[in-house]
Amino acid sequence: MENQYTAYEIILAIKKLQENNGKSPKDGKSSDPIMEIVTPQWYYSSSYEVFNDVELTWENLDRFNLVHDIANNIHKVDIKLMIKGNFEKSFASWYLSYHYSPLKWGIHVRMAALVMIAARFNRSCPSLVFKPVNSVKAAFFYLFNHTLFHHITENASSMMELISSDPNIYGRYLCNVYTQVFNSSNCIEESLANSYLFQRAKQSHISTKYLKAELLGQGAGYEEFVKYLCLDFQKGNRVLLSQIREGNINPSSAEPLEQIMNIPDSQISRGYRIPVWIHEQANPAKGF
Ligand SMILES: [Zn+2]
Repeated sequence: MENQYTAYEIILAIKKLQENNGKSPKDGKSSDPIMEIVTPQWYYSSSYEVFNDVELTWENLDRFNLVHDIANNIHKVDIKLMIKGNFEKSFASWYLSYHYSPLKWGIHVRMAALVMIAARFNRSCPSLVFKPVNSVKAAFFYLFNHTLFHHITENASSMMELISSDPNIYGRYLCNVYTQVFNSSNCIEESLANSYLFQRAKQSHISTKYLKAELLGQGAGYEEFVKYLCLDFQKGNRVLLSQIREGNINPSSAEPLEQIMNIPDSQISRGYRIPVWIHEQANPAKGF
């Protein structure tokens, strides 16, 4: 179908590849390797899907009551509360992969963080001051764009798995690279995710200088996004994809693998058919 987002085709192909190999897709691990470094009370907490079956454009978000409900109450939020906006690090947003969570894969957002970021934008981001609805939409895209990069990374990993008929490439990368360098300046996937977000500042209606200062205060791995701007973004993607291909923090070569990364795809960038989940409380959920 012309408008159908190809992730579903990739997911089906990966499932088939896993079945054909007759072994666990998880490289001997029974659960998501990221579980070793995160808090399951948030990672797997109860959630509900929002913005279903709509292209996530700036205009389309206006259709949802969720956006207006937050905007109507934005002036009541105490922005001194300690809920930070640094993605996985503060459980503001995170990504669940279809390799490990086929039923709840997608972009996960903590409601309190979305509200807090929106309130901060509304009071201090030059492009958003006294624009509550725009502040909520910008806060959503702030969380969404960073997390979307993790989905693009998983898709690129899947392409490598399909090409080489090896269903364990993504799992090996998570075990041997991502979980080893998370929260350190060597976590290139987080640096690139913030670079991707920063490059989309205009689309998110967030003042560039404001966003840069925000991201530079996020700690190791996240703040290194400044090393991967402009042409260096492509070079960074090349290193990341080589890490994934080899399952090694220090890959032996850096082939032009970024060709399989669907960065400019307009459907992906509009989040078409990528599930978005909202979490309101930290409480372990069953059924994953
Ligand atoms: Zn991240």
